[in-house]
Amino acid sequence: MQISRLRLLGFKSFVEPTELVIEQGLTGVVGPNGCGKSNLLEALRWAMGETSYKSMRGSAMDDVIFAGAQDRPARNTAEVTLFIDNSARLAPAEFNDSDVLEVTRRIEREAGSAYRVNGKDVRARDVRLLFEDAATGARSPALVQQGRIGEIVSATPLERRRVLEDAAGVAGLHSRRHEAELRLKAAESNLARLADLIGQLT
Ligand code: ATP
Repeated sequence: MQISRLRLLGFKSFVEPTELVIEQGLTGVVGPNGCGKSNLLEALRWAMGETSYKSMRGSAMDDVIFAGAQDRPARNTAEVTLFIDNSARLAPAEFNDSDVLEVTRRIEREAGSAYRVNGKDVRARDVRLLFEDAATGARSPALVQQGRIGEIVSATPLERRRVLEDAAGVAGLHSRRHEAELRLKAAESNLARLADLIGQLT
């Protein structure tokens, strides 16, 4: 799946509606220090479901909302939309009915964020799995932040295996297994509690 466009509104320094067309091949973003290059990469990761405000260089999730400038008041919402070329129909079945997928994440100050795919409300989990299955995502090694190269060089073999697995597109399977394990644990503790209750009654 190819991300073909990125639209930002009120995200960090991008207070005006901004669209970035991502052509096939290599796209470079150049500009002076502090003009917002890293904010663009953060917008991509945020729309893919990033949940750590620290990795977004903030101290709270609301910090992704435009905080105001000398001549502009702060905003109360931020929105990022990724347009994904789905002409090869590689998206999961529930989203696979159109040539373009529009994945939107919107945050409202003090009210949290919500996701939509092609205008329909979806869960954060659905968006996370959509990107993980496509061998990308907010934590994917394909998105290299400043300082990340050093991290990968000094990673343990286990951490490096994770990088290879992400690139192979099996991260979604890991997430599903983790969810299944949690459900299994919950079922086991319910069974243990039931056994206790039965023991008390007999
Ligand atoms: P460098 O080349 O130095 O790495 P850059 O082009 O990557 O810089 P960014 O780090 O993306 O720039 O952008 C930093 C700018 O974004 C700063 O001017 C900062 O004030 C602004 N900024 C970050 N968060 C917000 C926010 N919530 N509201 C308004 N502006 C913000």
